[in-house]
Amino acid sequence: MCIGAHVDPGDPLAEAHARDAAVVQFFLADPQGWKDPAPRADAEQIKASDVQVFVHAPYVINVATTNNRIRIPSRKLLLSHANAAATVGASGLIVHGGHMLKDDDLSTGFDNWRKTFAYAAEQGGFATQVLIENTASGDKACARRFDALARLWDAVGEFGVGFCLDTCHAHAGGEDLIDIVDRVMAITGRIDLIHANGSRDGFDSGRDRHDNLQSGMIDPKLVVAAIRASGAPAVVETPGGAEGQSRDIAYLRSELAD
Ligand SMILES: [Zn+2]
Repeated sequence: MCIGAHVDPGDPLAEAHARDAAVVQFFLADPQGWKDPAPRADAEQIKASDVQVFVHAPYVINVATTNNRIRIPSRKLLLSHANAAATVGASGLIVHGGHMLKDDDLSTGFDNWRKTFAYAAEQGGFATQVLIENTASGDKACARRFDALARLWDAVGEFGVGFCLDTCHAHAGGEDLIDIVDRVMAITGRIDLIHANGSRDGFDSGRDRHDNLQSGMIDPKLVVAAIRASGAPAVVETPGGAEGQSRDIAYLRSELAD
């Protein structure tokens, strides 16, 4: 099982080493900003290393929205991050499912997702496999509830889109973790990455606050079960720096070894 962590982008390989992580995820630019990623001096080194790499796209990206001033730059930013992610040999580029404005129809959002992949295809396609991640909050989210996820996949499935399952987001978003992999697989047919996180908040709270695996409100055995059932690599996006994340990684490894 390939287990690792979301780490600071400064020196991802050193961060991986500090956590005994076989896989790392990091940002290539400010997650709250609109800047294209700058070329990395260590790109070849990261690409050549044994550590598997995932890149997380900025949070500001929302390709679903009806707001043109967000949607259009979001498409472009996603494309530039996919290009940059390829330079570090990333296995996937994770992007949140996005959300609509209060009075909007979700079906417009799903169609905007479809147009995003159609637009990318016109540019030669995304240079890195895009993984859409489920989210925790909002009444108009495209990938919070799985009924919405199913409609999203109806719109984008033909483009070979990947999926990233976040256990905190599922729990806080109101999707039970019991048998969750089966329910996701019935919709997407694939899980490319697990974000193995605890939650500081209750079921269906709509709050996105990650916790360490053994201290949050999620039974950590359910996280272990999801990783095992998916067979996918897992990344912890948990607090506590190298120490807290190392504990979470060690916990997952020992449980998965049984
Ligand atoms: Zn996540």
